[in-house]
Amino acid sequence: MRRPIIAANWKMNLGPKETSGFLTTFLGDLGPQCEECDIVIAPPYVSLVEASARFADHSAVSLGAQNMSQFDSGAYTGEISGMMLKELFVHFVIIGHSERRAIFGETDAVINAKLKKARECNLRPIFCIGETLDQRDAGRLEEVLRRQITLGLEGLSERDVTETVIAYEPVWAIGTGRTATADQAQDAHAFVRSVVAEVVSPSVANKVRIQYGGSVKPANTAELMAMPDIDGALVGGASLDPQSFLQIIRQSGKKKD
Ligand code: PEP
Repeated sequence: MRRPIIAANWKMNLGPKETSGFLTTFLGDLGPQCEECDIVIAPPYVSLVEASARFADHSAVSLGAQNMSQFDSGAYTGEISGMMLKELFVHFVIIGHSERRAIFGETDAVINAKLKKARECNLRPIFCIGETLDQRDAGRLEEVLRRQITLGLEGLSERDVTETVIAYEPVWAIGTGRTATADQAQDAHAFVRSVVAEVVSPSVANKVRIQYGGSVKPANTAELMAMPDIDGALVGGASLDPQSFLQIIRQSGKKKD
């Protein structure tokens, strides 16, 4: 049984004041549906303190960060360590988002170091992978995913991978309004699971949760979540509005064998 997990990636949106306004509405309207799936909200760093204080009374929602350093401490201007995140009761951390790979030049090796550091700090990574449109059109989908998974998870224990959530996010579907069809997403998820079975173990592959990300919205959530290998969603744009994020959560509470 894999428990569904829905995560909000706010990116560089919603500072502390807006976070407070969002959470007043969101937590007020959350209701019992929150018992059926794990919910994570990853605000920008500067809003973590506000969100952390508000989540203290809401065990149903976990705090996430959007990135972390691969180093412990020291002369790394602008960076935030895993232990600093732990102090704010952050439980999840997004690692290897395609925007970090493309805009900030994060390589598979850097992402692997961050995944290892996150686990050392007992944080649960949301490890993002996905192909660009050019790579898909050139028939390189499987090669790209295999490389990202193999290099990203290198040296992690079975326990570490089980505690990791993998987010399959086709780059061409992120923020474009163009969602992968449920069948395209299912095929990619089944492939991701098969690679985890190969490079880690079949039992870990069976347990690891794989989220879909890329223009998820209330109108397409149910169809995506009905797929056997889709265990949740990583939601960007549609998570910025409390009602639309709540609608996505409400359609995600189904359990799988
Ligand atoms: C994301 O940034 O992880 C994402 C999936 O964004 P969007 O939902 O806006 O496509």
